[in-house]
Amino acid sequence: MHQLTLAEIARGLADKKFSSEELTKVLLARIAQLDPQLNSFISLTEDLALQQAKAADARRANGESGALLGAPIAHKDLFCTQGIRTSCGSKMLDNFKAPYDATVVAKLAAAGAVTLGKTNMDEFAMGSANESSYYGPVKNPWNLEHVPGGSSGGSAAAVAARLLPAATGTDTGGSIRQPAALTNLTGLKPTYGRVSRWGMIAYASSLDQGGPLARTAEDCAILLQGMAGFDPQDSTSIDEPVPDYSAGLNASLQGLRIGVPKEYFSAGLDPRIADLIMASVEELKKLGAVIKEISLPNMQHAIPAYYVIAPAEASSNLSRFDGVRFGYRCEDPKNLEDLYKRSRGEGFGPEVQRRIMVGAYALSAGYYDAYYLKAQKIRRLIKNDFMAAFNEVDIILGPTTPNPAWKLGAKNSDPVAAYLEDVYTITANLAGLPGLSMPAGFVDGLPVGVQLLAPYFQEGRLLNVAHQYQLNTDWHTRTPTGF
Ligand code: GLN
Repeated sequence: MHQLTLAEIARGLADKKFSSEELTKVLLARIAQLDPQLNSFISLTEDLALQQAKAADARRANGESGALLGAPIAHKDLFCTQGIRTSCGSKMLDNFKAPYDATVVAKLAAAGAVTLGKTNMDEFAMGSANESSYYGPVKNPWNLEHVPGGSSGGSAAAVAARLLPAATGTDTGGSIRQPAALTNLTGLKPTYGRVSRWGMIAYASSLDQGGPLARTAEDCAILLQGMAGFDPQDSTSIDEPVPDYSAGLNASLQGLRIGVPKEYFSAGLDPRIADLIMASVEELKKLGAVIKEISLPNMQHAIPAYYVIAPAEASSNLSRFDGVRFGYRCEDPKNLEDLYKRSRGEGFGPEVQRRIMVGAYALSAGYYDAYYLKAQKIRRLIKNDFMAAFNEVDIILGPTTPNPAWKLGAKNSDPVAAYLEDVYTITANLAGLPGLSMPAGFVDGLPVGVQLLAPYFQEGRLLNVAHQYQLNTDWHTRTPTGF
């Protein structure tokens, strides 16, 4: 039963082959048995899950239907869940029980999804390896000595290990697409504003966006359908109609113009990944796509710009964690200043402290123009590059990451080495564009992802291309040994 996709689960529930309660019990037992090897969950919500599963079964018995009614999922632990610990992977929020549900959580619960738990993540979503979590690193089910990617590493490892069919994630600079690539999943970062950020603990507000992680594009379509839509509680949420993503999966790719940026194939890319990406291009050509070389000339400036803008926003967002209103408070503070200093010094881990310092520096009076303003100008150039490219092509294709999953600890002493792994993903966040990663093969037994980018609000096109590719390839069906 644990091998079923969301789409198969929906059919099985509709045909009364099993109940949501039965399925939920099977998956909870599987998590109890296998997750100790992976550490993909921070909290399990067994009681809530069984209660939601029974309620979903009752709704089905009353004639209701829906692809998510009774479907087991989990949430990255930065989506607020009422009455349940929402830790953001940090000691700072280890004792924090959210007083309300994030919009995404509420919407999925209303659609009948069953929450099995909250998944592990890099502290405050800062990282590319899921090693900065207060709750310890997550292991990659494809090789337990390797990282699963980050920051949504817990969601990715759990879905890849078939502990559950799908989970939510968030992507500020690649945190859905990169772990999807490193664990052989399909992951989608929607257009900025497509999915409500209300109740999603903020890292960098102008870049953060929630989205689905699943094994197939078909399942990402189902989960995104439940997450997307206008939310008056989020002032950057956009009031655009949400298309029927599942209905769009079967459109033909005949004549689809795919752009492959020449800058993607630089020295930093593992040549074995380059070969797999070109093989995926050949596959899409067979389905009718036309390939065109394009250029994104400002791409080389993306990492420096992102690593100014994201920490700048983080330094502002994280100022709310002061030991006074919520979260960790140090023992016996001597005075207010001591309370702030020690609560923040003891509550935040080293990567978070580094980002706060970098961000506060970039925003400070003497350096604002030199760093923050400059980074914002680069951001505009990167967006303009994409706008020009999308005048010529419908989709942009390339690798999701320059390398496969690295060994745990391998980049710990050099944060910049980890930042460089984000080279292909962060441009979509800087421009606000939707992006998807899907399985494209293996290097040394480790998964490789191909990334597709599309114009604003064209999530449906990404899902359509990925679904057609998955109907003709079987990379996404491979299961890690031992799971
Ligand atoms: N690796 C990037 C960072 O650390 C992206 C993280 C994310 O998307 N949340 O900022």
